[in-house]
Amino acid sequence: MKRILREVFGYESFRGEQEAIVSHVIAGGDALVLMPTGGGKSLCFQIPAIARSQAGHGVAVVVSPLIALMHDQVGALREAGVAAEFLNSSQSFEAAAEIEQRLLKGQITLLYAAPERVTSPRFVALMDALHGRGKLSLFAIDEAHCVSQWGHDFRPEYQLLSVLHERYPNVPRMALTATADALTRADIVQGLQLDSAAQFVSSFDRPNIHYKIVEKQEAVSQLLRFISDAHEGDCGIVYCQSRKRVEEVAERLNKEGIRAMPYHAGLPADVRLANQDKFLRAEGWVMVATIAFGMGIDKPDVRFVAHLDMPKNIEGYYQETGRAGRDGLPSNAWMAYGLQDVVNQRRMIDESPAGEEFKQVMRGKLDALLGLAEATDCRRVRLLAYFDEDYGRLTCGACDNCVSPPDVWDGTEVARKLLSTIYRVEQQSNLHFGAVHLMDIVRGKSTDKTAQYGHERISTFGLCADISELRLRAVLRQLIAIDALKVDAQNFNTLYLTKASRAVLRGEVPVLLRQSLKQPRAAKPSGARAAKHDAAQGTMDKDSQARFLALKAWRGEVAAHHNLPAFVIFHDSTLRSIALLNPSSADQLSSVSGIGAKKLEAYGEEVLRVIKTNV
Ligand code: ADP
Ligand code: ZN
Repeated sequence: MKRILREVFGYESFRGEQEAIVSHVIAGGDALVLMPTGGGKSLCFQIPAIARSQAGHGVAVVVSPLIALMHDQVGALREAGVAAEFLNSSQSFEAAAEIEQRLLKGQITLLYAAPERVTSPRFVALMDALHGRGKLSLFAIDEAHCVSQWGHDFRPEYQLLSVLHERYPNVPRMALTATADALTRADIVQGLQLDSAAQFVSSFDRPNIHYKIVEKQEAVSQLLRFISDAHEGDCGIVYCQSRKRVEEVAERLNKEGIRAMPYHAGLPADVRLANQDKFLRAEGWVMVATIAFGMGIDKPDVRFVAHLDMPKNIEGYYQETGRAGRDGLPSNAWMAYGLQDVVNQRRMIDESPAGEEFKQVMRGKLDALLGLAEATDCRRVRLLAYFDEDYGRLTCGACDNCVSPPDVWDGTEVARKLLSTIYRVEQQSNLHFGAVHLMDIVRGKSTDKTAQYGHERISTFGLCADISELRLRAVLRQLIAIDALKVDAQNFNTLYLTKASRAVLRGEVPVLLRQSLKQPRAAKPSGARAAKHDAAQGTMDKDSQARFLALKAWRGEVAAHHNLPAFVIFHDSTLRSIALLNPSSADQLSSVSGIGAKKLEAYGEEVLRVIKTNV
């Protein structure tokens, strides 16, 4: 299997758990593989598939949820000289029939298909035929968290995959995912009947990602500043909650000279596909998207992921931010969040048609994310703890809170005043009020409404006159986050007390808050600046740089010719190594990570020619 790693994929050594996983599966074992995005899951099933096929066990079926991306993944395998195919609805009947014939003749090593395809009667009959001849070598179920209804990506078709175990109990199965908290993990095991599978849990840490969460003020301006500070010309993803917002933000970015395009489920399929294609193939585009975008996107050089609105839970956040920096180079995860996000997310849960138990789970998950956003200590430690992983240290040195520890202020007194205001107005008027009105009362601001309800006579009127609205909002947010206040979505988002309010009112629960920035635009804090990447320039001397650019131009032509994204031909990191090495022979070239036998044969000469004409 080392030989396959080297000759087919051009890599010197396995990473982390890869070796253990690969040998376990080659030997016929079942496996549940939890590895962060970019950790190298694909090799975990691709190498066993190749090894088992060479040993005469037949084809490996890879279940992958997104038709649109199978093309690139299969393309990458073919580039490496592996007999890979996909079956999906984009093909003509004839093309699919031809692949089925080749399957039966044993000419295919890996077959990709979507879950609904795999569980269709026609496909099951095909698998039956292969199985009858002992030519079904492996099932690899990618993005396996889709089986869980608690996750953020639930796909009911995944639950039908239990048929694989029932029908072909002796064929090894592996399930792979990049996000699974304890609950989702249990669901995968149950849903896919992997009770006796070995579990391989890698560290979920993504050391090259820098995390930053800011308080939302003028979200889009904050985003523009973040991009111009650290990511000019970079490829990135901006997540927004609604389709409308996606459109608006994409337009605004374009106006500001940032090449951006929208992606959401409301766009026609051809536009979505075209935008996704451009994002994958061209350099330096920003995709503004709802969460409909991103699953299975394995573009290695996404330099930043920004959340303009808060996701549903930490799993979603981690999955989405994980799309940054798969190539291991420094990247940023940036999020802006505010009171409105909290209110919106709570409302979505409250108003969803789901059962009460489900809602409770969702609220718990949302709270964990709020806890992360409000945290004053290391974000990475908290993120990993959520996935039951002990980081082993208290600080990471690569998140906003570590780089510039926030000032903390004790908001307990203010919180008590706000809560007691809510208590009093409820007593007095038997009504609930929204955040703005409550803040007016404690700040002592007379309005038509305070006059109308006689709220100027309440004893807390004006008690927080010296506290800014920003701070009051932060306190309210925190109170909602710890469930000491609830939002009544059916009633103009008014706020009301809960059981948990009492402990805060009595002063038993401290309310500690991050010190808000005074101004949206603080002078660029030197240390707190987002990690600036050096993808291509970095430490390269001028000659290497010239070679790198020439190689990139050449790669662009090859990629266009093959109708594949450039990174499928060679990653930036491979081109960079070639440029630095300046090889003069195929032998030297073959030592570069990412150049396997097939690629050396296909491109070696041309690469050397490009280098030679650029010394
Ligand atoms: P995942 O599916 O876990 O998100 P991938 O399988 O796409 O990650 O792998 C991430 C990147 O790491 C890919 O570019 C892959 O080629 C590279 N990679 C994986 N394993 C190795 C290895 N052992 N040595 C070098 N590069 C590797
Ligand atoms: Zn940290």
